[in-house]
Amino acid sequence: MATILVVAEQSNGHLKKATLSALTAAQQVAKNTGANIAGVVIGAGAGQAAQDLAAYGIPVHVVEGAAFEHALAETHSAAAAEVAKKAGAGEVVIAATAYGKDIAPRIAAKLGAGLASDVLAIVGANQFKRAMWAGNAIATVEVTTPMKVVTVRATEFGAAQKGQAAGTVTPAQVSAPQPKTKFVEFNEVKSARPELTEARVVVSGGRGTKGDFKPIEQLADVLNAAVGASRAVVDAGWQPNDLQVGQTGKVVAPQLYVAAGISGAIQHLAGMKGSKTIVAINKDAEAPIFQVADYGLVADLFKALPEMAEAVKKLQ
Ligand SMILES: Cc1cc2nc3c(=O)[nH]c(=O)nc-3n(C[C@H](O)[C@H](O)[C@H](O)COP(=O)(O)OP(=O)(O)OC[C@H]3O[C@@H](n4cnc5c(N)ncnc54)[C@H](O)[C@@H]3O)c2cc1C
Repeated sequence: MATILVVAEQSNGHLKKATLSALTAAQQVAKNTGANIAGVVIGAGAGQAAQDLAAYGIPVHVVEGAAFEHALAETHSAAAAEVAKKAGAGEVVIAATAYGKDIAPRIAAKLGAGLASDVLAIVGANQFKRAMWAGNAIATVEVTTPMKVVTVRATEFGAAQKGQAAGTVTPAQVSAPQPKTKFVEFNEVKSARPELTEARVVVSGGRGTKGDFKPIEQLADVLNAAVGASRAVVDAGWQPNDLQVGQTGKVVAPQLYVAAGISGAIQHLAGMKGSKTIVAINKDAEAPIFQVADYGLVADLFKALPEMAEAVKKLQ
C-alpha cells in the first residue's frame, strides 16, 4: 500500500503548528486512497520534534547531523526526497509555509512528481482545489503523475488530533549531500512577543493606522499577542515584511485575530481567515473584512484600540 509522507517543519526541536494542518490534509487523502501516513523531520532538533509528531499516531523518520543542521532548501529537499523513495511514498505533503514553498518544488523535481501548490481542498485521490490569479479564481487541478507533491494552505486544514498510540521514531539513513550552497548566517528576529505563526492571539494593523502602530502594540501587549500587518503597511515601509499576513506573507490561524484598519482584501484573508475568532475594527461599515469577522466594530481604531486595551487590563 502506498505511503503519504508528511514533511514536518520544526525549529530547534519545536514542531511548527502548520505541520499538523499538513497531517490533516494527508489524512483526508488517505481516506480516499487507503494509504498509510508517515512523517519525516529534518534538521537540528529533529529528534525532539519527531517525538511530538509521532504522538499523532504515525511512524516518523528523523534526519539529523551536521550536514542537515540548517534549513537549506538544497539539503533538506534531498533528504526528504530520499526518505520518500525509501518509504515507497506515492505522495509528499507539506504545509505551504516559507519552508514548504522552498523545498516542495525541489522535492518534486527530484522525484519526477507533479506538484499541486497552495492547495485549499482535497477533491479526490488526484484532484485538488488551489487559488489562482492572486486568489481571485479557484481552480480544480489534477496531478497525473504516479508520484505527487502537494503543499497545503494551513488555514484551510485544521490541526490533526493526537493518535491513541504513538508511532515509532526511526533515524533515516540518507546520503551525505554535496550542496552547491552553504549556510552563512541566520539573522533571527528577536522579539519579546510570540512568533506570528505560532501565537494564540494576533493583533494586525492596516493602512488605516497611517503607520502609527502604537495602538496595535498597546493592545498586543495586554493580550500577549503577536503583531501582524497588511501588505499595504509593509509596502509603505511602516513595518518589516516578516510581519505581513496574507497570501504573499505569513499564514496564521490563531484563536483570536484582531484586524484594525484593514479592509479585508482577498489576499489578506488568505492568510488569516482560518483564525478561530476574528474581530474587525474599521471606520467603514462596508469594509469586506466584516464579511469574515465574528465580531465587528465600526469605529476609529485610534479611539477603540486604547479603550479595548484598558478594558482588558481591568479584567486581568
Ligand atoms: C499578488 C498579490 C498578493 C498580495 N498579497 C497580500 C498579502 O499577503 N497580504 C496583504 O495584506 N495584502 C496583499 N495584497 C494586497 C491586497 O490586495 C490589499 O491591497 C491590501 O491587503 C490592503 O491593505 P489594507 O487593508 O491595510 O489597506 P486598505 O485596503 O487601504 O484598507 C485600509 C482600511 O482602513 C480603514 N481605516 C482607515 N482609517 C481608519 C481608522 N482611523 N480606524 C479604523 N479603520 C480605518 C479603511 O476604511 C480601510 O478599510 C496582495 C495583492 C496582490 C495583487
